[in-house]
Amino acid sequence: MAKYVENAAEEVLAAAKELLEKGLVEGTSGNISARQEDGNVAVTPSSLDYRIMELEDIVIVNPAGEVVSGERGPTSEIKLHLAVLAAYEDLAAVIHSHAVHATMFAVAQQPIPTCIDEFTVYLGGEVRCTEYAPSGSDELGEQTVKALEDRGAALIANHGMVAVGTDMKKAMHNTALVERSAKIIWGARQLGAVHPLPEKINENFASVYPFMR
Ligand SMILES: [Zn+2]
Repeated sequence: MAKYVENAAEEVLAAAKELLEKGLVEGTSGNISARQEDGNVAVTPSSLDYRIMELEDIVIVNPAGEVVSGERGPTSEIKLHLAVLAAYEDLAAVIHSHAVHATMFAVAQQPIPTCIDEFTVYLGGEVRCTEYAPSGSDELGEQTVKALEDRGAALIANHGMVAVGTDMKKAMHNTALVERSAKIIWGARQLGAVHPLPEKINENFASVYPFMR
């Protein structure tokens, strides 16, 4: 059975507020989803400020993207969320954000390399960048699924990032870790060379990732 989040709508709302608090989103940018036990997905609504978002604003859609409950329309990035949850049944939560440093790498279309120890343990290896696909398209969903293979996060070319988890806490942790790492590497490049982790260390950490996922 596919992994799911208990009280998915409550978790989506709490994560939206937390993203805002942590400075990982602004205004209405970014969106969040969580799979429910019944296979439907709780997701943030389209174009609503996180500051005023309430539980009744969270939209429930079926795996085909049709609204099954809620007054509002789902996020315009709904296809991305549904594609990821359909492709990876062991995942239950998806956070898409436009965090500034991660988006810098996405605009440069460069992967975020594994330069700090905890990175590979939680994310599985370098964070790949998708090929460019327009926002809201089926193609963007497919590209994101591909970039997420054996990884806890991916960059979306010229757009932002997506982080995933077997629960919301992990998806949130991965979002913050990717943004922090992107900031560190960007800064380290200003100082000079970025030294990758030794290959052996990376391999060891990568083997831990499936258990941390
Ligand atoms: Zn976006």
